[in-house]
Amino acid sequence: MPHEEASIYEDALSRLDRAAEVVGLSSEIADQLREPLEALSVSVRVRMDDGSQQVFPGYRIRHDDSRGPTKGGLRYHPEVEMEEVKALAFWMTCKCALMDIPFGGAKGGVCVDPQSLSRMELERLSRAFVQRMASFIGPNRDIPAPDVYTNPTIMGWMMDEYSQVQNELCPSVITGKPLALNGSPGRNEATGRGAYYCIKELESRKGWNPHQVRVAIQGFGNAGQSVASLLFDDGYRIVAISDATGGIFNHEGISIPEVISAKNRKDSAEDLYSSCSVCDCGHCDDTGGRCTCEDCDCPACGSERIDNPTLLELDVDILIPAAIEKQITAENANRINADYVVEIANGPTTSDADEILAEKGVTVIPDILANAGGVTVSYFEWLQNRTARWTEEKVNSELKRIMVAAFEETERFVREESIDWRTAAYSVALTRLKEAISCRGTKNFFNQVA
Ligand code: NAD
Repeated sequence: MPHEEASIYEDALSRLDRAAEVVGLSSEIADQLREPLEALSVSVRVRMDDGSQQVFPGYRIRHDDSRGPTKGGLRYHPEVEMEEVKALAFWMTCKCALMDIPFGGAKGGVCVDPQSLSRMELERLSRAFVQRMASFIGPNRDIPAPDVYTNPTIMGWMMDEYSQVQNELCPSVITGKPLALNGSPGRNEATGRGAYYCIKELESRKGWNPHQVRVAIQGFGNAGQSVASLLFDDGYRIVAISDATGGIFNHEGISIPEVISAKNRKDSAEDLYSSCSVCDCGHCDDTGGRCTCEDCDCPACGSERIDNPTLLELDVDILIPAAIEKQITAENANRINADYVVEIANGPTTSDADEILAEKGVTVIPDILANAGGVTVSYFEWLQNRTARWTEEKVNSELKRIMVAAFEETERFVREESIDWRTAAYSVALTRLKEAISCRGTKNFFNQVA
């Protein structure tokens, strides 16, 4: 019989099973974590600019709240579906436990191509989605945040809509808001910064000279751009970057600040998304179209155009997938040439691919560790909304403290249990979840008092 491909959620649970064995998780707790606590499926009705109505499927899952209110992003993408949201919510539970922040896991999204909507349509969609979710989310219950193709502007609309429904200002219902609307300094760069701190920990252990370390980054959005900037500033050689439309490769290294300013050019101040790509020229073509100059030295022209599959297989020291799930699979894992994969995207590597990478000696710093900077600073934002504003310096130094502690604890499991980094990260998370769930009462507890 042909081997059927595991769904993304089944694949996610296989990681749970592996770590459950390492930490001796009881079947009662494992069963609790295998199924989400609550799932919401809604129709988001939007009045379009031409007067017609369109209906978009929306989802929100609260996976587990044993350690605190549930927390997780909202994405707008044409491929959002329930099974994917379930996996993403499960990863959030594990990520918050690994970071030791007092949240459980959640995730949500709308199945929509946001770049096909006008700004007003996008605002109506965001507000309508919040109305559908209003009794499901809440500052002490479930706190959304940005994810793929959502951003601070959208989080601001959502906080405003929720506050209108509740008839009072509720800033801590959502994180990743604009600074002017009770956002946190440093939140926008936090995911990339967290991954950067992981790479700096590797650097200090391996004695790397950044100028000799070649990096390829798939996905040049919020998180990809932040990690690229920080590494570039330290002298790392970013040889390839890409977005949904393709990528560029330059053996000498790409000037990240120039590409960022070229990519983020917008057609008008009203545009929420830029129509430019990393492949577009920032210097010689004001329209943002492809440059055809022969002797231009702008970042895109000086580079070779490559596609996303090619980027993943480049001979580099560090590969950073920072786009979407299932990019490194059993099909291409054998051709991955990086020594390290630092996962900023959620779920970019399938479990089949993990085994192949391990055989090849590739070290994978897993998503629940490498991209946890975002949720960590979201936690700081939630705290600040209840207490007082922090400085950016305080946000970054607290982020570093928490990232380094999680990195070291994961490393300890790698060393003591002789396991890979992903299983180690899940083992740390499950140890903490086990403790919290046990404190609420398990079979052992009830057997003792009977
Ligand atoms: P974003 O929307 O800002 O950027 C996504 C980038 O990926 C864009 O450049 C887009 O063009 C590119 N992309 C989309 N599809 C692609 C494809 N098929 N091939 C190559 N590139 C593609 O999103 P983001 O916030 O930077 O999130 C990126 C990843 O990081 C996601 O997996 C997200 O879940 C994860 N993540 C984000 C945060 C956060 O705080 N933003 C936190 C944790 C994890």
